[in-house]
Amino acid sequence: MDLKFSAEDFEFQKEVRAWIEENYPQEMRERHKRSANGHLSREDHMYWQQALYKKGWAGLDWPGELGGPEFTPTQRYLFDLEMAAADTPGILPFGQTMVAPVIMKYGSEEQKQRFLPDILASRVWWCQGYSEPGAGSDLASLRTKAERDGDYYVVNGTKTWNTLGQHADWIFCLVRTSDDGPRQQGISFLLIDMKSPGIEVQPIITLDNPPEGYQEINMVHFTDVKVPVENLIGEEGKGWTYAKYLLEFERGNAYSHGLKASLKELRKIAAVELSSDGRPLSEDADFARKLSEAEIAIRAMEFTELRILSSLATGKNVGPESSLLKCRGTELQQLLTELAVEAVGNYTVPFDNTGAILGMNADFIGPEYAAATAPRYFNNRKVAIYAGSNEIQRNIMAKLVLGLT
Ligand SMILES: Cc1cc2nc3c(=O)[nH]c(=O)nc-3n(C[C@H](O)[C@H](O)[C@H](O)COP(=O)(O)OP(=O)(O)OC[C@H]3O[C@@H](n4cnc5c(N)ncnc54)[C@H](O)[C@@H]3O)c2cc1C
Repeated sequence: MDLKFSAEDFEFQKEVRAWIEENYPQEMRERHKRSANGHLSREDHMYWQQALYKKGWAGLDWPGELGGPEFTPTQRYLFDLEMAAADTPGILPFGQTMVAPVIMKYGSEEQKQRFLPDILASRVWWCQGYSEPGAGSDLASLRTKAERDGDYYVVNGTKTWNTLGQHADWIFCLVRTSDDGPRQQGISFLLIDMKSPGIEVQPIITLDNPPEGYQEINMVHFTDVKVPVENLIGEEGKGWTYAKYLLEFERGNAYSHGLKASLKELRKIAAVELSSDGRPLSEDADFARKLSEAEIAIRAMEFTELRILSSLATGKNVGPESSLLKCRGTELQQLLTELAVEAVGNYTVPFDNTGAILGMNADFIGPEYAAATAPRYFNNRKVAIYAGSNEIQRNIMAKLVLGLT
């Protein structure tokens, strides 16, 4: 593999860094730094995504003729590296990364023209309606029903664990259009306007304790929701194929940039927190060893990503190795939040220490960096579950990477 970056690559990296410096407002940086779950207000997210669009850096994996920047794999790597180093908000995946590839591959011409430009420009906010109270890992057992009635489907059921649906304009949903035959064959893929009568978004308040409106996940209830048949993607009953295609894009993330940035923050905390003998924690042999082990694991992760990057540059796909990235990347994310709790100690204990984070008139209990430590620790329990739990990823690796049956 060839891991050398060219002079043009370094020029590109400088351009990204300078653009971030100019376009990432200081107040937004502060809000993002304090956000326990990495999310900001709808306005902040929209501002950021629209700024990227204006620069020509939206739809990062889209083909050039549809407006993608056509980064080389190396440019993409450097772009992600700079974004993580500057702690910018993540690009919301639901539109550009998840539903857009499905519309591109399986949507009609009319659907492409209607939806893709708004997704690229972040004029609409999408959310994902796959999981249900009785259907997660075993997604094919989903029961939300869509019954054909003339030019409409009438949708009834409940989706759950829906991320940021309180902000969404549209939801892409897996629905059951038939109970006959194998379960997968009765599933269809529908695009639904969240303003349709009969949709109710119900917040789920999680252990990281965000106040209502700032919640990360929701239930979405559908009661006799009328959806025009032209919002069906592809063919009725083929939704399972489209759903699986989408999941390839949901899981193919790079983790090492974000991990390196988090480790840097953790090292800063360890330099000011004291160990029991009064010396900085960073000089405590046991804690220093944990930091070094984390750094080694992150470097190994980075080299795995670079190895995959190198094969992408020669035209190969990520394939089931994305499961490896997801498992290892999320384990390391969790490890860093655990070490942060250990470093901060007692000041992680106050349960609701987020008032000042949200701009309320309340002082932090303890140092400012302590306030988000426990909410982040709790929030990061999710990473081993969403986008297909890590147990499911291990099943995929056992079968498709190791060839075990
Ligand atoms: C924060 C968060 C955000 C999410 N956002 C969305 C969203 O926006 N839209 C959406 O549709 N969904 C979303 N999800 C749902 C997510 O995809 C599911 O939670 C996930 O697929 C697991 O399903 P489940 O929660 O029903 O758990 P279950 O499937 O009930 O699994 C329970 C446990 O059993 C294990 N298990 C299950 N089957 C197997 C097996 N075959 N082999 C080994 N172990 C197994 C699992 O690993 C897990 O530990 C989100 C989830 C979280 C936590």
